[in-house]
Amino acid sequence: MDLALAEAAACTVSGDVPVGAVVVAADGTVLGRGRNARELTGDPTAHAEVLALRSASAALGRWRIGGTLVVTLEPCAMCAGAAALARVERVVYAAPDPKAGAAGSVHDLLRDRRSNHRPEVVSGVRGAEASELLRTFFAGRREGAARLPGGGVA
Ligand SMILES: [Zn+2]
Repeated sequence: MDLALAEAAACTVSGDVPVGAVVVAADGTVLGRGRNARELTGDPTAHAEVLALRSASAALGRWRIGGTLVVTLEPCAMCAGAAALARVERVVYAAPDPKAGAAGSVHDLLRDRRSNHRPEVVSGVRGAEASELLRTFFAGRREGAARLPGGGVA
């Protein structure tokens, strides 16, 4: 989770919401890393988890990744789906996402009995730190908007 939090912290350079992810093999080897790059790339699917899974599959040369996906924010439906498609064995996340979380908050795609692959889900690992990163980021954006002439929103 240290590495995932570091990835998340690096997001603010591009103005992206700070979310970081790492894929770790069963033996502890880091297979892939990613950070939210939606603003940076203009790609709606450039979520930290998808980028980390892509980097892991590129490193391994296969789509079946296994291992553990560690992410600072509860995965959305797309990322939960991607984790299941990559046959990740465990998903560990820090902060819950009450608006879009698909690992228990809004949906529970990873533990849905109808799914053909159900990774173990571990939540709340260093959740306070990840939540603080997000809170600071959004507080900074609100201050920036308030400073615009006429108080408009950028
Ligand atoms: Zn996502």
